[in-house]
Amino acid sequence: MPVSTKLFPSADRIALVGLKEEDIDKVWEELGVNPGAAVGGCIRSIRVCPGTTFCRLGQQDSLALGAELDKRYHGYALPTKFKIGVSGCINQCAETCIKDLGFVGKPKGWTVLVGGCGGARPMLARKLTDNVSSEEALQLADKIINFYEKNAKKGERLGRFIDRIGFEEFQKAILG
Ligand code: SF4
Repeated sequence: MPVSTKLFPSADRIALVGLKEEDIDKVWEELGVNPGAAVGGCIRSIRVCPGTTFCRLGQQDSLALGAELDKRYHGYALPTKFKIGVSGCINQCAETCIKDLGFVGKPKGWTVLVGGCGGARPMLARKLTDNVSSEEALQLADKIINFYEKNAKKGERLGRFIDRIGFEEFQKAILG
């Protein structure tokens, strides 16, 4: 049976099209990866750039941070879809400025961006803080996701939630 591939650009996903339903579990097993099927109101596939691992412009290890975020949150249910991006430098090849949560590598650490989105009503992300280590970036991701989960309305993207409560309030809640 012919199987073709399809690229989904916003998170660099690849679809294998034409598989029989009964073969799907076996194919995941042969690929040696966990099923990546997060859709709907949850944390989607995390977009990362090659960072310091493969790009000469990289300032931080975006692959390591992205992999850890994916391990912790991929598929985690939230009031609506939630996109995360990790870019190794200010060129933002992972489109971090239009992600709900973005990390941008700079010489002294990560800059944390919040509230971006694409689509019909796009928003540019705003800077929450900068110069944080990878460990601190993970702690902030946890705080942001928990705060959003507890306080956002169903269907409300992070950027619109921040607009509703005010950026300063949001910043105070996350950074103290
Ligand atoms: S964001 Fe920077 S480090 Fe990442 S691929 Fe683009 S140029 Fe390279």
